[in-house]
Amino acid sequence: MGHGWQGAVLKLMRGKDFTFTVRSNERLSERLHRLSFDDGGMLQATGVHPTMWVRLWFDNGGRPHQRAYTLVEPDPAAGTFGMDFALHSGCASDWARAARPGDTIEATVQGSQFAVPDPLPSRLLVVGDAASRPAIDSLLDAMPQTPAVIWYETAHPRDGDHMPQGGGGSRELVPVPRRDGGGHLVETVREALPKRLDDSAYVWIACDTATTRTLAAFAHKQLGVPKERLYALGYWRAD
Ligand SMILES: Cc1cc2nc3c(=O)[nH]c(=O)nc-3n(C[C@H](O)[C@H](O)[C@H](O)COP(=O)(O)OP(=O)(O)OC[C@H]3O[C@@H](n4cnc5c(N)ncnc54)[C@H](O)[C@@H]3O)c2cc1C
Repeated sequence: MGHGWQGAVLKLMRGKDFTFTVRSNERLSERLHRLSFDDGGMLQATGVHPTMWVRLWFDNGGRPHQRAYTLVEPDPAAGTFGMDFALHSGCASDWARAARPGDTIEATVQGSQFAVPDPLPSRLLVVGDAASRPAIDSLLDAMPQTPAVIWYETAHPRDGDHMPQGGGGSRELVPVPRRDGGGHLVETVREALPKRLDDSAYVWIACDTATTRTLAAFAHKQLGVPKERLYALGYWRAD
C-alpha cells in the first residue's frame, strides 16, 4: 500500500519506515486489545524515549489511513514492543480486533519526542483517557518518585478495568466520566488544577483534540504555566 501525500510529507520530514509483525493479540475486554510486535529493526535504529509513539498505516478500502499508537514495554535487545488498542468504531480498531500472529503493518517514525524534564518537576499533573493510558504509564514510569495527580476520563464502564498504574511514587487517580463531549472533564480540571499547581509542576494533557486544546489554553494563558512545563497533544478527534 502506498502512503499517499501524507507519506510523501513524512519522508520529506525524514520519517523512517519500518514493517512490524504481529506476535500475539490478547483480548483484555471488548474495549481493549493488547498486541505484541516484532519491531522490524526499529528500536535499534531509533532508540526509545518515554511516551514514544509511531504512525501506523492501515488500509481503508485501498486508501492509506494513518493513526498514532504508543509503544508499551519496548525492548530494543529483543526487538519487540506491545501496543494497547482502546477500541471503538474505526479502521485502526477494526484492524486490531482482527489481527493474527504473522500479520504485518507498516509504520513511520516521525514526530514523537519527549524528554524527562531536568530538574525533575515537583509533581506531575496529568489529564488523559484510554487512548493516552499507555503514554501516561510510560510517563509515570519515567519519573517513578515524582508525585502525580491524574484526571482520567472514562467513556465506558470497562474503561475502569485498566487505569494508569505506572511508576511507584504517590499517585492520585481521579476518574472523570465522559459527559458533554469532554465538557465535564474540562470543568473538573479547571476547578482542580489551580489548587495543585506550583512553580515547578509539570502539566501533561492528552485527550480528545478539542478538550486538549481548551485545557492547554487554560493552563498556559490563564494559569501562566510556561511552555517548557506544559505538554499537550490531542490524541483523537471526537465527531
Ligand atoms: C501520539 C498519539 C498516541 C496514541 N496512542 C494510542 C494508544 O496507544 N492506544 C490507543 O488506543 N489510541 C492511541 N491514540 C489514539 C488513536 O490514534 C485514535 O483513537 C485514532 O483515531 C484511532 O483510529 P481509528 O481508525 O480506530 O478511528 P478513526 O477513524 O480515527 O475514528 C472513527 C470514529 O471513532 C471515534 N474515535 C476515534 N478514537 C477514539 C477514541 N480514542 N475514543 C473514542 N472514540 C474515538 C471518532 O470520533 C470517529 O467517530 C494515540 C494518538 C496519538 C496522537
